Amino acid sequence: MKPMAAKRILVIEDEARIADVLERYLRAEGFVTERAATGTRALELWRAFRPDLILLDLMLPELSGLEVIRTIRASSDVPVLMVTARAEEVDRLVGLELGADDYITKPFSPREVVARVRAVLRRAGGSVRRSRIYRAGDVEVDLERFTARCGGKPVTLTPTQLRLLALLVQAEGRALSRHELLDQLGEPYVDVRTVDAHVKNLRRRLGPCGTRIETVRGVGYRLSLSTF
Ligand code: CA
Repeated sequence: MKPMAAKRILVIEDEARIADVLERYLRAEGFVTERAATGTRALELWRAFRPDLILLDLMLPELSGLEVIRTIRASSDVPVLMVTARAEEVDRLVGLELGADDYITKPFSPREVVARVRAVLRRAGGSVRRSRIYRAGDVEVDLERFTARCGGKPVTLTPTQLRLLALLVQAEGRALSRHELLDQLGEPYVDVRTVDAHVKNLRRRLGPCGTRIETVRGVGYRLSLSTF
């Protein structure tokens, strides 16, 4: 086995005190970090530093964190972990819709951030590599290569969207509750509306296959197999 290269984390945070602590903890855990204090600088570093994960504060000078996610998602599926204040709940939901993978709320403990960074990286497929291809009709999810197809055409999804789709495909038409989905996604403590945001985004990304994700009122979501 080749030794794993150190993962690169881009810390986007305008409060120097918080950024200092985050970088110190992440580096102590073996990550390589870079820091951006403005949205503009963040996009420059995203292109130059090519991070494996982005830790993104939403309230930034120049460009907002949401604009940063939107720009990055137009061409990249790099995992994005948002950092938000409690009052920014609406922004958080918009961020998830724009394709952020997870979020953490201020005030946070640096250890918690490191744990979440590891979890998001793990989900993004860094460590476990098994053959995991799931199919339902013409929807196909390959959790090894982290790709999805609709009607044979590749669809670009974030790691969280891919896992969500895989869960729905595996359930073979059974409805899954939002809590069940969050548990399976490894996010048991986040707001259930997070699932709605992920699903909304997933439907859009799936194009014609998106309509197969049905809302089951009072329950959650299921993949419609009847239309295949
Ligand atoms: Ca800030």
